[in-house]
Amino acid sequence: MSSIEQKREALAHGLQQLLAYCDQAEELITNKPVIPSAEMDFSALIDEIFPLPLDKDAPEGATMKLLMRMVEECTRCPLCETRTNTVFGEGALPARLLVIGEGPGADEDASGRAFVGKAGQYLDTWLSPLGLSRKTNVYLANIVKCRPPGNRDPHAQEVASCLPFVKRQIRLVKPELILLVGGVASKALLETDEGVGKLRGTFHRYEGLPVLITYHPSGVLRNPDLRRPVWEDMKKVAAFLNLPLPGRSR
Ligand code: URA
Repeated sequence: MSSIEQKREALAHGLQQLLAYCDQAEELITNKPVIPSAEMDFSALIDEIFPLPLDKDAPEGATMKLLMRMVEECTRCPLCETRTNTVFGEGALPARLLVIGEGPGADEDASGRAFVGKAGQYLDTWLSPLGLSRKTNVYLANIVKCRPPGNRDPHAQEVASCLPFVKRQIRLVKPELILLVGGVASKALLETDEGVGKLRGTFHRYEGLPVLITYHPSGVLRNPDLRRPVWEDMKKVAAFLNLPLPGRSR
């Protein structure tokens, strides 16, 4: 057993012992028999005090906090050499909706925050009429956590390197619905070569979770003809989450 594991075990034992001492003290003070406290799960506290060393090859069991650290320290692909900040993702937990985009742009790279640039602000305008926002009920993430230089699409190897992080993130967020925006996200998660035009409009599944697909906000900013299909897709999101549409009484 490693020294950190020994410390974790000793701490768990010590904390349980402390509970027993508290029971004894209560008995002494009140002079009444006290029902012994049940075994308690101190794992969250122990993780805080003695975090397990990172296994960079195994994000599968990581907590959100550990996963964030793994991403921060990641050097799995060449994007780590050009990034300013990693962009883990952000939002409300629990989240009703998880939106997954492609990867950070310049503003996200500079700030370390997902969807804060032009495309992100535009995405916010799709969500807010439905009563959805990163502050209350939406989590925002990307397929790759580091900016591809010049805003190019991430290469297949970069996507493959980041996917274990995204997959773990989805499990931890456990949303009611996933909305994939753009072809990079839908191809990576649904393992398909079909484009957004073919995939949108129907529900898909990722590990049992329902998935909808729509166009990427940057693409819609460039091509206003896509606004209508996006609104149709957002109506599907609203219907699935049982959210009222603006201007419609139930
Ligand atoms: N585009 C994305 O796909 N993600 C971001 O975070 C910002 C822009």
